[in-house]
Amino acid sequence: MKRVAVLGSTGSIGTQTLEVLASLGPDFALAGIAAHSQWQLLAEQVRRFRPRRAVLSSLDLFPRLREKLAGNCVELAGGPGAVAGLAAADDVDLVVNAIVGSCGLAPALAALRAGKTLALANKECLVMAGRLVTQAAAEAGGLVVPVDSEHSAIFQALSAGRRSEVRAVWLTASGGPFLDMPLEELERVTPKLALQHPRWEMGPKVTIDSATMMNKALEVVEAKWLFGLEAEQIGVLVHPQAIVHSLVEFRDGSTIAQLGLPDMRVPIQYALTYPERREGTVPSVNLAEIGRLEFREPELERFPALELGYEAAKVGGTMGAVLNAANEVAVEAFLAGRIKFTQIVRLVADVMSRHEVVAEPDVEAVEAADRWARQEAEAWIIRSR
Ligand code: MG
Repeated sequence: MKRVAVLGSTGSIGTQTLEVLASLGPDFALAGIAAHSQWQLLAEQVRRFRPRRAVLSSLDLFPRLREKLAGNCVELAGGPGAVAGLAAADDVDLVVNAIVGSCGLAPALAALRAGKTLALANKECLVMAGRLVTQAAAEAGGLVVPVDSEHSAIFQALSAGRRSEVRAVWLTASGGPFLDMPLEELERVTPKLALQHPRWEMGPKVTIDSATMMNKALEVVEAKWLFGLEAEQIGVLVHPQAIVHSLVEFRDGSTIAQLGLPDMRVPIQYALTYPERREGTVPSVNLAEIGRLEFREPELERFPALELGYEAAKVGGTMGAVLNAANEVAVEAFLAGRIKFTQIVRLVADVMSRHEVVAEPDVEAVEAADRWARQEAEAWIIRSR
């Protein structure tokens, strides 16, 4: 039996993970769930999925959860430390980290240092502190299984050969809602428009990141750390149908791809059942019905975010943390109507250009770079008004 903890259980990946777990039957037990602030949904999930433990990261809201669940036989805890505590708990084998944003780092490190298998949907922790995360896994014998669909595809395709036989990997990108919009119209894009993704249904942060292609930029850094690649070995292909989730190019001229419908339940289930495969609830892809798969090179003028991802992957150190933090602030500001769509990437580029990189940061240096970038991003927004 695998005992699973789901961190970020009230988000888009978290709710789907609970559904997949329920469909997998009695070989999987829900050891605990954790959320940041959505205490009402967390309470509902406790009633429906019966975890042993439930954690709310927000201490302000924790009393409401406790009151709501009075009389329920579930262990409750509050605060960010309790989230990391759940990730490292003795009765947990596998931790699903579906937290959005930089708060995912501490629980990821806690899980890996405790030797757990980490099903990782929180790409931010690898972007911020890839070296620390991979070191923690190597030192304590923990394993990272990616949940991000592209990286799950690469992880699966890699089983066709040895790591030393890989020439390159290709991350696919659907191109988001503005793939063919005239460039001059991008200035006027509203949050409502940017939140409509043509292929994937996701949370608001990653949907905006897909529209700017910052998501792919973050995924370049994620791939570098997950698979031990050089930035030059990571390519990006625009693939509007979002059926081929990524590809691995081996040295002998063979390229291996993973295909499937754009449905996160597939990579979620794979990460839960790995190294096995179980009967799934998502239908297989019907290629005759789809008829046509297209690929093209990304236009850098349309998607300048991509270059920032490559820069962070090449420079390394604290640059990833700065890229991630500045982008989080910029996306929030765009959603709040404080900056224009096209200013998101300009802001991030400007903050990155002024950062003094720490080459091999510890957690404190990563956190300091994160804080610095948030302050700089906020100052940029105020200056731009
Ligand atoms: Mg992805």
